[in-house]
Amino acid sequence: MSNAIFNDGEDHLFPCFSRADISFTRGEGAWLFGADGRRYLDFATGIAVTGLGHSHPELMNILASQAQMLWHVSNAVRIPQQEELARLLCEKTFADRVFFNNSGAEAIETAIKTARRYHFVAGATERYRIVTFEGGFHGRTLATIAAGGRKKYLEGFGPPMAGFDIVPFGDLNALAAACTAETAAVLLEPIQGESGVRMMSIDELKAVRHICDRQGVLLILDEVQTGVGRTGRLFAYQGAGAAPDILAAAKGLGNGIPVAACLATEKAAAGMTQGTHGSTFGGNPLSMAVAQKVIEVISDEHFLGEVRRKSDLLRTGLEALVADYPGAFTEVRGDGLLLGVKCASAVETAVSAALGHGLLTVAAGDNVLRILPPLIVSDEDIAFGLERLRRIAQALLSTIPGHGASSYVRTFLF
Ligand code: PLP
Repeated sequence: MSNAIFNDGEDHLFPCFSRADISFTRGEGAWLFGADGRRYLDFATGIAVTGLGHSHPELMNILASQAQMLWHVSNAVRIPQQEELARLLCEKTFADRVFFNNSGAEAIETAIKTARRYHFVAGATERYRIVTFEGGFHGRTLATIAAGGRKKYLEGFGPPMAGFDIVPFGDLNALAAACTAETAAVLLEPIQGESGVRMMSIDELKAVRHICDRQGVLLILDEVQTGVGRTGRLFAYQGAGAAPDILAAAKGLGNGIPVAACLATEKAAAGMTQGTHGSTFGGNPLSMAVAQKVIEVISDEHFLGEVRRKSDLLRTGLEALVADYPGAFTEVRGDGLLLGVKCASAVETAVSAALGHGLLTVAAGDNVLRILPPLIVSDEDIAFGLERLRRIAQALLSTIPGHGASSYVRTFLF
């Protein structure tokens, strides 16, 4: 096709994303430097990915040295970096076995296959159904959109993949009723990130674990967003005292290098025998070397303690913001550095106002402005971000009749 119909490079991309008209050339710690010559505080972290910030010295070193030695070989041979990372993940979690993928959705697919195969090899071939919670987001592959059950993601892609039963968020009676003799697993996010930072309480998670045990059903936790230190624990379940049988991790695991993992107990992984699953890129030496360093840095107890301290600092500031500007923000949600403030008006307006004030944030469902700083964020950066959020609140109020100026003026302050 002739290039004549295309105006610029973006016209050659599938227009699936709604992109802000901004790009970045460089990142350092919690800061991004825009092609527009301005700097931006990164409270989006590429949607909970760059937990160790940009240009982390240890990650740059390990990436450069592995890049000079070996990138890829395939899973037809042993990969020592893969074995080492699996050993480390098992040592730090409930798991005994790990399968490496490239993305969150793939890790969820692996988790679903693992749960179904567990029952299959145990002779319960009728147990293939997966129960999920309404509002859940597990990815954009055909199985994961069926697991999420959201109409807008399913529409136009043919019949949804069979075998998913969706119950109202937090309704444990409905969950217990949905777990039948055909159920293989319950799949849930400890905090629903995309749907508006909706948390399951510790008691609810424990109750879900209990229901699964009683019904002979496996528990799969989707920790794609909550994992790798985001909640101030290596994985969120560790703060709840209710371990899963299977867990999917991704996002923060590679700090931006595409890598994901499905973790399982020996028992739950029993069906995943030779030839049942595979991946060309999954677990290659390059991604493994980086992910190993990420886990080594983040799993340190002092590091995680600091994440929790910084979370308290940020949360206290956000609560004060809500108290001072109830016309703009109405509620603080979340845990660790996966926080959100519910907006009184459209969240998209808040995201673009934040960008105008040099602060990157992420929109979530239920009109929630997601605040996802890097785990290495400094106290000064938190203070700066909070101060910018105050200006944003004022700017938002100025757009509401009776609250000040009649129109919001986009201001760059750098
Ligand atoms: N699960 C959760 C909880 C997520 O937040 C996401 C992505 O946002 C996914 C799964 C899918 O991950 P990916 O986009 O890497 O496929």
